[in-house]
Amino acid sequence: MIINEKEIYECLAAAKEATPEQVLTILTRARAAKGLSLSEAAVLLHVDDPVLLATLYTTAQEVKERIYGKRVVLFAPLYLSNECTNNCLYCAFRHSNSDLKRRTLTLDELREEVLILESMGHKRLLLESGEDLSRVPIDYVIKAIETIYATKSNRDAIRRVNVNVAATTVENYRALHAAGIGTYQLFQETYHRPTYETMHPSGPKASYEYHLTAMDRAMQAGIDDVGLGVLFGLYDHRFEALALLQHAAYLEETYGVGPHTISVPRLRLSGNEPMPAVPLLSDEEFTRLVAVLRLAVPYTGIIMSTRENAQLRDLLLDLGVSQMSAASVTSPGGYRADENKTTSQQFATYDHRSLLEIVRAIGKKGYLPSFCTACYRVGRTGEHFMEFAKDGEIQSFCQPNAILTVAEYLADHGDEATQREFAPLIDKWVAEISDPAVRSLTRLHLQELSEGRRDLYL
Ligand code: SAM
Ligand code: SF4
Repeated sequence: MIINEKEIYECLAAAKEATPEQVLTILTRARAAKGLSLSEAAVLLHVDDPVLLATLYTTAQEVKERIYGKRVVLFAPLYLSNECTNNCLYCAFRHSNSDLKRRTLTLDELREEVLILESMGHKRLLLESGEDLSRVPIDYVIKAIETIYATKSNRDAIRRVNVNVAATTVENYRALHAAGIGTYQLFQETYHRPTYETMHPSGPKASYEYHLTAMDRAMQAGIDDVGLGVLFGLYDHRFEALALLQHAAYLEETYGVGPHTISVPRLRLSGNEPMPAVPLLSDEEFTRLVAVLRLAVPYTGIIMSTRENAQLRDLLLDLGVSQMSAASVTSPGGYRADENKTTSQQFATYDHRSLLEIVRAIGKKGYLPSFCTACYRVGRTGEHFMEFAKDGEIQSFCQPNAILTVAEYLADHGDEATQREFAPLIDKWVAEISDPAVRSLTRLHLQELSEGRRDLYL
């Protein structure tokens, strides 16, 4: 059983009775970065005393920093098509939305989008699409991935394509795996079956069971790097968070490897959804949720999209987020300056800063922006990634690779002011590398970068 509702409701009911002493005991244990039990996570999701909340946040910040250091991985979504045969009530791409301008990119149009993203300095993409077996068949998706990897300009290239396309068959997952994808992401949207059934009235996505078991098929097809997510705002966020943790634990128990990432998209209404009015979770609830997830699954990356505004995104970096999208658009062909995005987009975005502005803001907060793609290229994925992550090796590989990729980004896409701002930061980050051999190698690679070499990593 993947989701045990009875256990979730029991944990939630018991959590309401937790005393401040119990909360503090859980937080003390959480500091060891060994994760939380379901009942402990439930207790922390109910904390609303300001003093206890402040302790929860400092604990999340401590754990985040111990495991991830100061790194923040940056990426952009790339929409292939907004054709969709499903009718998800919350989504502007839903089949019944006759106001949407529909479009599937040709491979030439896709190349154009990739070149724009590369010229911004992006190295990691998340491929997105509606589900339409005839207009967006798997062969087209595979060709699109090959096209993205093959589209290079000057020194720029996309080095990792993560994929967020509809739940599919083992055979199709095998084809995606063979095409060299990074993480396969799929959001359950809601783990609450009755809400799921209301929100997904027709189309292949209407089956809760088929959607829920997608990651099993992906794992059976050899994809050991998967990302889970919930569309927060459809149902009670505490129920969803515990179900997400059950799903993560199930994957770890069954396949020996838990999810590589968890995404926390929050529902954004784009205007004309035929949705019942549902209460969205507040910024405060959302913030607490991110901190609890950080403590519950310390080794799982947390991804934050531009559905959230700049201020909240910057705050959540402190509390657990380890990856964020930057300068995103949510429509196929939308990166072209002359494209009218609003008639074809999935939802509006709320952080409109350019990639360079986001890089600067991250640096100003003392964080280290990273465009690193090394792990998946040298086979540190799935179980192998978890082994090395849990041995604390993240710091020895990821810190130097983040430094090298941001130095490369600044050399090719930074302006003089940003290069000046980052020079002392890079010196400081290199000095913080504890292993002298790794530190020397990083300095050597930085020298080689300044002489024109590219794509250097450990
Ligand atoms: N079509 C595939 C699917 O639904 O699984 C691929 C992913 S879809 C392009 C990307 C995600 O956008 C969905 O999984 C959903 O969580 C999210 N989404 C859809 N409508 C949204 C909205 N109004 N606000 C925020 N996120 C939304
Ligand atoms: Fe289609 Fe995905 Fe939107 Fe549902 S969420 S309508 S499947 S694009």
